[in-house]
Amino acid sequence: MHDINALRELLAQPRQIFITTHHKPDADALGSSLGLAGYLRKKGHHVTVVTPSDYPNFLAWMPGNEDVIIYERNQNDAQVRDLINRAEVIFCLDFSCLGRINEMGEYIRHAPGTKVLIDHHLEPEQFADLDFSNPKAAATAELVFEVIRDLGDQAMIDVGIGECLYAGIMTDTGSFRHPSTSRNVHLIIAELLNAGINLSDVHRRIYDSHSEMRLRFLGFVLKDKLTVLREYNTAYIAITQDELRQYDSKTGDTEGLVNFALSIEGVVFAAILIDRGPAVKISFRSVGEFSVNEFARKHFNGGGHHNAAGGISYEPLEPTVQRFLDLLPQYQTQLVTSPLAVAPPSV
Ligand code: 5GP
Ligand code: MN
Repeated sequence: MHDINALRELLAQPRQIFITTHHKPDADALGSSLGLAGYLRKKGHHVTVVTPSDYPNFLAWMPGNEDVIIYERNQNDAQVRDLINRAEVIFCLDFSCLGRINEMGEYIRHAPGTKVLIDHHLEPEQFADLDFSNPKAAATAELVFEVIRDLGDQAMIDVGIGECLYAGIMTDTGSFRHPSTSRNVHLIIAELLNAGINLSDVHRRIYDSHSEMRLRFLGFVLKDKLTVLREYNTAYIAITQDELRQYDSKTGDTEGLVNFALSIEGVVFAAILIDRGPAVKISFRSVGEFSVNEFARKHFNGGGHHNAAGGISYEPLEPTVQRFLDLLPQYQTQLVTSPLAVAPPSV
């Protein structure tokens, strides 16, 4: 049976549903989760959304945000475990391996409910009973739209659900500029506009809602922390815990910084390495052929997409940066022969 028919059958009666997404949810993770939750609630299901960590304040406008449970190892572990075990259906959105959701991953692996994966990352782990993963999709929110449409319920997508899905697609396509921005994406946006979404409101809530400190932090990072390695067409930023504290950095305040490094002419590979205390979290971005998914997977226990990936290091910041730098020579040929790598101006 095709998965959509199996899903339709599964949802034919009111269910206890558990929805989760990846650690430090971004707009696609939370938007696809809350968009799906809004739809399922309208259908009469009992839905709980649990995130494996907190998420940026600029996502708090999404309808359903007030009911999200944030998993905390020392506070609500038993409650979340119980919710997972009692769920008849468990939706996993915007992540492809259970390791991405901390302790919750193992609880879900062993839970009796039907697991449904909706995701667009490369090389998904095979843990789901129903799998709607498609690495060609620009965003998980795009896939959630298609699932709702294919279940025959597009008319149930209201402004609230539509704006959650729009937020996911807008951010994961880099505001409709990444190569993943297909005709299909634009057609879906046209449908969401038909449902009454206000796209400039969504854009403003996400991109123009910074604190003054966040903007000053951006200034500091660009002026003092950005290193450009012309010989590798690479730029990177490394941020210490002290610097985060100095600028009173909140969850989400570092999001998007790596894109500034990638916006330099000729740069095809960018990284940001942030000391979060227990570990150094790294974001990689590229343009063109250089696969940051492979780079993150091979060297930093991570993964993601071809041009956007992340990883982690349990060494301190300095040795992590050094390890990153020591890897570059073996990729030099790839990095300098990229068609998008404009030669630096001769001085
Ligand atoms: P970001 O750099 O914005 O945190 O993540 C970029 C992409 O890589 C996202 O699709 C995200 O889900 C994925 N990603 C980020 N960190 C990790 C990681 O540690 N492991 C894996 N497998 N994927 C990651
Ligand atoms: Mn996504």
